[in-house]
Amino acid sequence: MNIMYDEYSWPEMKELLPKVRGVIVPLGSVEEHGYHLPLCVDNALGFEMSKRLAEKTGCLLLPIFPFGQVWSTRNFPGAISLSEETIVSVLVEVALSLKRHGVKNVIFHSGHLGNAPAMKKAARVLYDNYDFKNVFYFAYPDYVKLSQGVMEAPMWKGNGMHAAEFETSMMLAVRPELVHLERAVIEYPEDTCTMDFRCMPWEEYTATGAPGDPTISTKEKGEELIRRLVGRMTELIDQFIK
Ligand SMILES: [Zn+2]
Repeated sequence: MNIMYDEYSWPEMKELLPKVRGVIVPLGSVEEHGYHLPLCVDNALGFEMSKRLAEKTGCLLLPIFPFGQVWSTRNFPGAISLSEETIVSVLVEVALSLKRHGVKNVIFHSGHLGNAPAMKKAARVLYDNYDFKNVFYFAYPDYVKLSQGVMEAPMWKGNGMHAAEFETSMMLAVRPELVHLERAVIEYPEDTCTMDFRCMPWEEYTATGAPGDPTISTKEKGEELIRRLVGRMTELIDQFIK
């Protein structure tokens, strides 16, 4: 089965959509990822994992929605910053379009962690206001646990994966030509306990925009991380959609 949603004609969709297992709505962002990675990391990773997930689960895949909620990094050059409300509106309207065509299950999947609150909010709006209950959402589910035994460097603050060994390794697996490992820098900013309890744009505490150690990233680690994440998401979809 061709997984690409928008490569079908409307007469084909008329047949296919009411029968399809689900539709994956991939999300990403355009934001800084340190000195050594491009702005497109979350789009590249989000789309590649969504593709593998669609192939494994028999779902269709929409084109990626490429802009995210990037409040924390919005002042780094190049960032495209949407409000949470805008993303919620987009997701609700995409899901309602799918519902109109008979799609029974919708999966929001983000390659950018910052979109998680908007995905959850959109699913609640669909549940409460439109009686659309089969809307699922995830962004790197269980990634800290799944990365154990693969990652060598500690994650900043225990879960920081942005542009560090985790994302850099996955980019080496997916788009190696865009990775400039020779520019990567180790940076573990001081973890002031107050930063979790107030607004603090990233430029106030990280010079690189990549807290952690990206220097020891490898393609092999990236392939293994993607394999585990896609495996976990496949399990979740199999539990959602019997
Ligand atoms: Zn990212």
